[in-house]
Amino acid sequence: MENNHSPKILLIEDEEDIRQSYVDMLDIFGYDLETAANGKEGLDLIKKTPFDIVITDLNMPVMNGLEVLRWVKKEYPLIEVIVITGFATIENAISAMKQGAFDYITKPVSIDHVKIVITKCLRQIKAKKENKELRDLNEKLSELNELKNKFITITNHELRTPLAVLKGYIDILELDLEDHENGEIKEYLSIASNTVNDMIDMIENIHDLSHLKNLSMQQHKTKFDLNKIIEKVQREIGILFEKRNLPLIVNKDHEPVYINADARQIHRAIRELLHNALKFTEEGQVSVSIKNVDPKDRVFISVQDSGIGIPEDKVDLIFEPFYEVQNVMHHFTSKTDFMGGGIGVGLSLVKELIESNGGELAVESIPGKGSTFTIILPKNNRQPGN
Ligand code: ADP
Repeated sequence: MENNHSPKILLIEDEEDIRQSYVDMLDIFGYDLETAANGKEGLDLIKKTPFDIVITDLNMPVMNGLEVLRWVKKEYPLIEVIVITGFATIENAISAMKQGAFDYITKPVSIDHVKIVITKCLRQIKAKKENKELRDLNEKLSELNELKNKFITITNHELRTPLAVLKGYIDILELDLEDHENGEIKEYLSIASNTVNDMIDMIENIHDLSHLKNLSMQQHKTKFDLNKIIEKVQREIGILFEKRNLPLIVNKDHEPVYINADARQIHRAIRELLHNALKFTEEGQVSVSIKNVDPKDRVFISVQDSGIGIPEDKVDLIFEPFYEVQNVMHHFTSKTDFMGGGIGVGLSLVKELIESNGGELAVESIPGKGSTFTIILPKNNRQPGN
């Protein structure tokens, strides 16, 4: 059956007239049939030809059908064996089935029965072959995935060191030139510094995305107040909003909002959503709000923007790694500019970060009006230490 050739069948039968009747029958069905008059002859043929099915009589001189069956199953396990039993009793056939025969045909031979058994057997061979192909493909995919992760890990590692050196020198220069009167030089330096920081962020995201399955293993869950995380993010990226003259409204809860999760990962997710909101909003405002009243004891952190929005048919795609709605060729260099550079991994990472902490990520968006990304996390109402 390999390469879709017509199925190759070997018939081992010592009685010549029965042999001939099989030849006539299988010829009508269009099968490629060879015959052997006894087990030994059959074995020699099998060694030379890749048969799909061996049909063998059980009761034969020289080498009986059970011996043929055992040998075939040991040497060529992919060949299916159908036995022919001439006895009124069915025990021999059952014994053959127990030893790996696919099915049995009783004498006298019925053309319909033979056709049914062979058809069933061919289906099984096809299914097994497809199964094997799928398994091989799966194995190949896993290998490729591993290779990809290895490549990312190595390039990541190789990029980190020169970037750290670059960042180090830029930091030194920024300190040295703090009092320099030439504002232009300071501005260039600040752009260089931001760009290096963007690259470091990107490398970190790609690294984390390629090690997603380890996310929950690396988790360090503690009980913490979400308000504090929002404050921290605000301190870190508030300046980027100021530079773009885009108001960032922060609506914390007046009470502490305790959750039990990996604080670093939640912080990262909120920061990433705010970065996107900044990137895809030209004017208006961006807000981050905590909603802490829910009958199901969940807490909602929404990042809302008045930006470009996402077309309805693209909403499901944006969580795919490396997917970007806009044409990637139109990227500006800086990640903080309107429609600035990115590589399409932020949201897939946010989704994984949130889900690995037992939460969900939801999105609502109206093209031209804005988007709201909401992180939903299980709440932990108890006070710390309880
Ligand atoms: P990146 O921002 O690096 O391109 P992300 O995975 O974070 O990658 O986002 C994927 C895509 O989803 C973005 O390229 C953009 O097309 C769309 N997107 C994400 N956030 C927003 C948003 N707040 N407003 C509009 N589009 C967005």
